[in-house]
Amino acid sequence: MTFQPTDFVPSRASDGLVDPFGRTVSYLRISVTDRCDFRCVYCMAENMTFLPKKDLLSLEELDRVASAFVQRGTRKLRITGGEPLVRKDIMQLFASLSRHLRSGALEELTLTTNGSQLARYAAELASYGVKRINVSVDTLDPDKFRAATRWGELDKVMGGIDAALAAGLHVKINAVALKGVNETEFDDLIRFSHARGMDLTLIETMPLGDVDEDRTDQYLPLSRVRADLMDRWTLIDLPDQTGGPARYVRIAETGGRLGFITPLTHNFCESCNRVRLTCTGTLYMCLGQEDAADLRAAVRASGDDALLHAAITEAISRKPKGHDFIIDRRAQKPAVGRHMSVTGG
Ligand code: SAM
Ligand code: SF4
Repeated sequence: MTFQPTDFVPSRASDGLVDPFGRTVSYLRISVTDRCDFRCVYCMAENMTFLPKKDLLSLEELDRVASAFVQRGTRKLRITGGEPLVRKDIMQLFASLSRHLRSGALEELTLTTNGSQLARYAAELASYGVKRINVSVDTLDPDKFRAATRWGELDKVMGGIDAALAAGLHVKINAVALKGVNETEFDDLIRFSHARGMDLTLIETMPLGDVDEDRTDQYLPLSRVRADLMDRWTLIDLPDQTGGPARYVRIAETGGRLGFITPLTHNFCESCNRVRLTCTGTLYMCLGQEDAADLRAAVRASGDDALLHAAITEAISRKPKGHDFIIDRRAQKPAVGRHMSVTGG
């Protein structure tokens, strides 16, 4: 890394967020809780110790931080977790953030969920201006679903997806590619998603946090999945529109879109436009690096947002060039110690 952080410069709330590599930060992902009603094998250990409630940002504090980012040019907010819909009164946060959609300052307010609570919340989310959501479904087989999530019920998630579609939400299905779990099911996932007008994105497992299992047993390279799909489907490359790690193709036979997220390759870091806030107010400038900034201290030190804006400016000045992920048989420890449920997916 050749970049040296610049001297601290007090920022104005009107300043946009551009990192040392010239990338504009326009996308904030916010994990609103580290808790979850599932225990997916690649994400969490079965026995997790969760954070004490006092360490969490309150809904008002989450709104303050998110709104400071919006003021600085953030155009997209994604609420995630843990499972965001298990956070108490979470609809209040959506309700209050929706003011930025109405004012035009924010382009998109969205959500990544496991779908277990969606039947209850889909219509309300739509009423707050949420238009698109991501729902994680790794397998359509109820027994495998129970095994992969340890605690999840596929029926409930399917009911949630139906409710979301009925509420007019665009749903994208996310599936983590897992060796020995869903590697023979991608055709079914494609048919299921595309028949309902939903995009499907396949995700490579990332080495985040200890999960009780051997990661090299779970890891299924998407290059192999893609090559296999090409035996049966016609994949037409689509131009990149997200600035993110997903590369999309259209499947000629279904007309639907299929994305591949391969975080272990470096090619998307150059266009990275995002940062991640944990539920305790820690800002990670890169999913694959430990360096972080404590925004909770800035929020709690003063009711005025000047300190918060200064802390955000300083953090963005440290956004690294790229990540350090490796899944290696020799490495006993995950490349990054925190779980995905802490940083948010
Ligand atoms: N609970 C919600 C859900 O499951 O959609 C939101 C949070 S979850 C951490 C976000 C996404 O990250 C999910 O699609 C999940 O499958 C994915 N994920 C979790 N751990 C992962 C890992 N180690 N590697 C790759 N993806 C992971
Ligand atoms: Fe929970 Fe989502 Fe992690 Fe599964 S992937 S354990 S649903 S946070």
